[in-house]
Amino acid sequence: MSTLSSSILSNVTPLKSIIEHAIRIRCPRCGQGKIFFAWGELVEKCESCGLKIRIREPDTWFFMYMSTAAITGLFVMSMLFLPAPKNQTMTALIIGAGALGIFFLTTPLRKSLALAIEYFTDSRSEHPRYPDE
Ligand SMILES: [Zn+2]
Repeated sequence: MSTLSSSILSNVTPLKSIIEHAIRIRCPRCGQGKIFFAWGELVEKCESCGLKIRIREPDTWFFMYMSTAAITGLFVMSMLFLPAPKNQTMTALIIGAGALGIFFLTTPLRKSLALAIEYFTDSRSEHPRYPDE
C-alpha cells in the first residue's frame, strides 16, 4: 500500500461507525450533525464537522432505486404466499397504501444509508469527488 493510501485510510471513519451514524440518520462521518433540515431535504453541510452532504445526493440514486425495488419485491412476494383475497379491490387498496406508507416512511433511512455508502467509497478514494475544503 502506498504512503498516500495509508494516510487516507488512517483519517477515515470506520465502516461500522458510518453504518451506525446512518441508521441514526446523522452525518456519516461524525455522527453528530443532522443530515435533513426538513422531510427529505438534505442540509448543505454537516453542522458539526462540515462534511458536504447535499452535493452527494446525485450519487445516491442507485441505492434509492434498488431499495425501492426491494420493497416492491417484498410486496409482490407477500402476494404470492398469502391466500387469495375475497375482496380484491379492498386488498389492492390496502397493499397499495401499505407499499406507499413503507416507501415514504423508510425514505429518510434509505437516503441516509445511501449517503453513508457514498461517503464510505468517496472517503477511501485517492481522488475524492468531494474533498474537504
Ligand atoms: Zn459531521
